[in-house]
Amino acid sequence: MMNLDTIVGLCKRRGFIFPGSEIYGGLAGTWDFGPLGAEMAHNIKELWWGHFVRSHEEIYGLSSSVLMPEKVWDASGHLESFADPLVECKKCKHRFRRDQLGNSVTKCPECKGELSEPRQFNLMFKIGEAHLRPEIAQGMFVNFKNILDTMRPNLPFGIAQIGKAFRNEIAPRDFLFRVREFDLMEFEYFIRETEWEKNFERWRTETWAWIEKVGIDKKLVHELEVPEEDRAHYSKRTIDFEFDFPFGKKELYGLAYRGDYDLSRHIEHSGVDLRYADPESGKKFIPHVIEPTFGLGRTILAVLCSSYREDELGGEKRIYLALKPSIAPVKVAVFPLLKNKPDLVAKAKEIYGQIKNKIQSIAFDDNGNIGKRYRRQDEIGTPWCVTIDFQTLEDGKVTVRDRDSGEQERINSKELSDYFIKELN
Ligand code: ATP
Repeated sequence: MMNLDTIVGLCKRRGFIFPGSEIYGGLAGTWDFGPLGAEMAHNIKELWWGHFVRSHEEIYGLSSSVLMPEKVWDASGHLESFADPLVECKKCKHRFRRDQLGNSVTKCPECKGELSEPRQFNLMFKIGEAHLRPEIAQGMFVNFKNILDTMRPNLPFGIAQIGKAFRNEIAPRDFLFRVREFDLMEFEYFIRETEWEKNFERWRTETWAWIEKVGIDKKLVHELEVPEEDRAHYSKRTIDFEFDFPFGKKELYGLAYRGDYDLSRHIEHSGVDLRYADPESGKKFIPHVIEPTFGLGRTILAVLCSSYREDELGGEKRIYLALKPSIAPVKVAVFPLLKNKPDLVAKAKEIYGQIKNKIQSIAFDDNGNIGKRYRRQDEIGTPWCVTIDFQTLEDGKVTVRDRDSGEQERINSKELSDYFIKELN
């Protein structure tokens, strides 16, 4: 597998992802998404929303506030225990997570200075009276009653959202893997207690289907059955989906059975009745919940690691991203064979306009020789390139070149949009 620097370098060079606030020396644990990264992130969110929300009648979308009062975090248990053990070097002041250093390490890995005793460091950012949410799940629990009252769902049903979470990580690192501000895609699936195993299996299968759909290499993903001593006390079962990142096998996604812990705690702390009434017997009870959680940044990183390729095409070395067309930032690039032939350029612009009407994320490039233009598109994962040449002016056919195989076929320009739309679906 390629190393992380190769991926970070490509992302910066090609406008996917830049270090946060770079002209001021950067801010640790923040990354800014450039034109291609923003487009790809948007595509992944859209794909996730389609896969988990829109295609399930019983899953309701939500977009709750990032700021939530301290009472929420008291109820959820974050105030008390959302902390990591922090040690600081007495000499260079570098901070580390004790649990990530390894038991045998007693000196600072940077300067060999003496390390302080560990202290519990809470990862929540506080803003005035509120906290920036360190996870998005609580927004779904505090709105549970609103969803019951307005949508009148029957069990089982889910509440889903995509949004930012903030954690004051002690040691942000490994590019998008551990940052201080990140997007989560997540849902809470409310069930009857007796049905938890069946539903757990269902979302486990659906998670694998998602992994395949978004273009993460299944061979690099491994399920970890989280042992009881590492699970939250209220969880009867948790599976981590780990990915072979360049820096090791680490958590990509999580799937947890959370019992009725969250709703019970909010009933206790808010004094509001959050029980569900069985439509037949009228009997009230607290539903249990299964929570599948998907980090967007880790998804992007796993997708990039899965799709990065170096090979040789036509005797030349090239780099390409074998992205699924559905998430590629640019779907099609249109080229006139030569820049200085007005007839070719005009025809290419016309065809570009036709495709653009149907598929918005496309590019026009007339810069440099065709080989260079292909390589530029390969590197950002554009699935198809369309070249307009002199023959096109006579028979209306263009060359469509496939990114992965490099194979070319002649297609009538009038059929292009339909051809790409078919492939995209
Ligand atoms: P870790 O043990 O790695 O700190 P965690 O077990 O606390 O993580 P969860 O609370 O399960 O993580 O977070 C849910 C999801 O959020 C993770 O599966 C991951 O995709 C994402 N995530 C968590 N922390 C970060 C972070 N600092 N940067 C980027 N993504 C994160």
